[in-house]
Amino acid sequence: MSTLRFHAIKETLTRKQVSITENVRRSSIFGLNVFNETAMRQYLTKEALESINDAIFKGDKINRIIADHISTGMKEWAISKGATHYTHWFQPLTGATAEKHDAFFEPVGDGQAIEKFGGGQLVQQEPDASSFPSGGIRNTFEARGYTAWDPTSPAFVFGTTLCIPTVFVSYTGEALDYKTPLLRALQAVDSAAVAVCKYFDKNVKKVNASLGWEQEYFLIDSALALSRPDIVLTGRTLLGHSPAKGQQLDDHYFGTIPNRAMQYMRDLENECMLLGIPVKTRHNEVAPNQFELAPIYEEANLAVDHNSLLMDVMSKIAERHNFKVLFHEKPFLGVNGSGKHNNWSLSTDTGVNLLSPGKTPMSNLQFLTFFINTIKAVHENEELLRAAIASASNDHRLGANEAPPAIISVFIGEQLTNVLNELENVTTGKLSPEEKTDLKLNVVGKIPEILLDNTDRNRTSPFAFTGNKFEFRAVGSKANCANPMTVLNTIVAKQLIDFKDEVDVLIDKKGMKKDDAVFNVLREYIKKSKNILFEGNGYSEAWEKEAKKRGLSNNKTTPEALKAKISTKALDLFEALGVMNKVESKARYEIEMEEYVLRIQIEGRVLGDIARNHVVPTAVRYQNMLIENVKGLKEIYGESFKTLAKEQMNLIADISKHMESINSTVTKMTNERKKANALEDIEKKAHSYCHKVKPLFDEIRYHSDKLELLIDDELWPLTKYRELLFTK
Ligand code: ADP
Ligand code: MG
Repeated sequence: MSTLRFHAIKETLTRKQVSITENVRRSSIFGLNVFNETAMRQYLTKEALESINDAIFKGDKINRIIADHISTGMKEWAISKGATHYTHWFQPLTGATAEKHDAFFEPVGDGQAIEKFGGGQLVQQEPDASSFPSGGIRNTFEARGYTAWDPTSPAFVFGTTLCIPTVFVSYTGEALDYKTPLLRALQAVDSAAVAVCKYFDKNVKKVNASLGWEQEYFLIDSALALSRPDIVLTGRTLLGHSPAKGQQLDDHYFGTIPNRAMQYMRDLENECMLLGIPVKTRHNEVAPNQFELAPIYEEANLAVDHNSLLMDVMSKIAERHNFKVLFHEKPFLGVNGSGKHNNWSLSTDTGVNLLSPGKTPMSNLQFLTFFINTIKAVHENEELLRAAIASASNDHRLGANEAPPAIISVFIGEQLTNVLNELENVTTGKLSPEEKTDLKLNVVGKIPEILLDNTDRNRTSPFAFTGNKFEFRAVGSKANCANPMTVLNTIVAKQLIDFKDEVDVLIDKKGMKKDDAVFNVLREYIKKSKNILFEGNGYSEAWEKEAKKRGLSNNKTTPEALKAKISTKALDLFEALGVMNKVESKARYEIEMEEYVLRIQIEGRVLGDIARNHVVPTAVRYQNMLIENVKGLKEIYGESFKTLAKEQMNLIADISKHMESINSTVTKMTNERKKANALEDIEKKAHSYCHKVKPLFDEIRYHSDKLELLIDDELWPLTKYRELLFTK
C-alpha cells in the first residue's frame, strides 16, 4: 500500500501543467452553447419564440404543434453545435444531476437514417429512473415518474449532448426532484411580493428571487486523491495527522493562485462562458489548496441549475488537469471546511431590488417592508431554515466550532439596528403629520447614505444582510441550493401574505392610511422578531448560552435538525403555499434521514477497513522491525541492551497500545452498526448512527493518527495531509 502512496507522489511530481490558450474575448463566447434568445431567434419561428416567452414569463402552456416546431429548431441548433444525443437533465433527490442520453439518430428503413427529435420527446420523457430515492412515494414496481421540460431554464449543449432542464415528478403529481418545489416556492414568493409591492408601486407585475452562490472547493492532485480510499469513497479524509504547517500563517488566502490551479480555472471558466454561467470571481480560500468561485447573481431557478451544472463541469474539467475536486464540507480535519454562501434578494420587473435601500423615503419604506418581513420570516422559521442545510457532511461545520454555528440568527449591522430601534417607537394607531415628517426625513430617509459604509461585516453570522441582499452563509459546499432556496422563498412568501392581511385589516377596518398601517405592522414585527437579531461573535460559547435564553434552536446534528421538516407547522406551511403537500414533505424527510444513515454507514465501513487492513498491519510491520532491532542489540551488548534499546522498547509498547485500541474500537463500532441496522424506525436508526456509531470514528482516528507519528514514514500507507494539501 505504501508503494501506492509513493507511486502517487512520484506521479504528481512529474506532472506537466495543461496550458490553456484563450484567443477570443470571453464576452464573445458567452452563452454560445445555450439555446438562448439569440439562438431561438435564429432557429425558431416567431410564433414558437413567443410561445416560449409566454411560458417563461406568464407560465402559459405550450401546445403540441408549437412544441414540434420548437423541438425541430432546437435539434437543428444542437446539431450545429456538434450534438449527437439529447437528454432530459434533472436533479433527483440524490443531490446530483441525472441524465440518460438518447441519440437523435433514427433509422427509417431501406438502410436510411435521419436525425429526429419530436415535440413529445422535448416536452416529456419517462427515464425509467425507478432507482432514485422517492421516500416511498413511488412504488418501484408500479407507478413511474416522468421528466417534463422546464422552459424557464434554457437548454444547452455540453460535450456532444443537448441537455434539456426538466422537472421530475411521479404520475400522481408528487415532486421527485429538487426543482419542482423550488419552482412552486418561487411562484409563491412572486405573487405574495407583487401584492405587497402594489402598496408602493402599482406597475409591478412580477417579482423574481435572485440567487448568487459562492462555491468553495478543494483541488487535490488526482493521483494523490485516488491513493486514499477514504477520499475516493466518502469524499473526505477519515484519518490523517495534521501537518506541521496548516493554515496558521494565512499565506494561501487571497494569495497568488498556483499555476496548475490557475490553468484549471481558466479552462473551467471558458466552459462556463460557453454554457452561459456568468462566473466572475476566483480566489484562494483560507485552507491550503482551497479555492472559491462565484458568478454574477441570476434568477434563482436558473442560478440553481447553473450551480448544479457547474459542479458537474468542475469535476469533468478537473480530469483534464489531473485534479480531483472535493466538494465535501470538511475534507480535512484541522483546516477550514467549505461552504456555499447563498446571496439572495428579490427584484421587480420594474428593475427595483426590494432589498436595496432606495433614493426616496417611499422607496425606503418599501425596502424596510421587505427587509423586516424577511427578518420575521427567519425568526419564525429558524428551525426550518436550519433543517434546509442539514446533511451528514455539513454537520462537520455547523456547530462544530467552525463557520457558522447551528444556531440561526440574523446580522443587520449597527446602522440598520438603529433604524429598527427608532421604528420600534412609532406611535400606535394613526401617526401625526409631524411624526411622519420626522420619520421620513430622519429615519427612513437616511438609509442610503449609511449603507455606503460597507465595513460593517460579520463573518460569523449564518444569515447576514450585506447592503442589498441577505447572505445565507450556512449552506454546505456540496448542497444543492434548491433546498435552502425553496425554504427561504416559501417562508418569506408566507410572511408577506400575512403582512398584507394585517395591513389591509388596519386600512379597511381601522380606517388608517396606508403608510400608517405599514408603520404600525412593521413596529409590531420588529418587537416580535428581536430575538433573531444578533450582532456579536456567532462562534462564541456566550452566544450559545444567550441563544438558548432567547429560545432559539441549536440543532447540532442532522437527525435533530431534520425533524423541523415534519412539524405540523412546516407541513401546513408548505401545503398552504402549494410548495409541497404533506406526502411530499414527509417523503423528503425520510429520504434525507435515510441518506444520513447511509453516509455514516459507508464512512464507518471505510474507516474500519482502513484502520484494520492498512494501519494495523503497517504498525505490526514496524513493530517487528523494532523487535528485530532490540534482539540485535541484546545479542551484541548483552544485558546492557536495556539502556540502549529503551526508546525502541517504549515504542513497541506504545504501538501495541494504539493497535489494541484501534482493534477494540473497530469491533465496538461494527457492533454498534449492527445494532443500528437492526432498527426499523428511521429516526431511531439515524439517532444510533449519530450518537453511537459516529463518535467512535474519533477514537479510532485518534489512535491511528498517533501511530502515523510513530511509524517510519517509508512504511506509512496513507498519503499524508502535507502531501495532499501542499502539492500544487
Ligand atoms: P463576498 O460575500 O465574498 O464579499 P460579493 O459581494 O462579491 O461577495 O458577492 C457575492 C455574491 O453575491 C456574488 O455571487 C454576487 O453575484 C451576489 N450578489 C450580488 N448582489 C446580489 C443581489 N442583489 N442578489 C443576489 N445576489 C447578489
Ligand atoms: Mg459572501
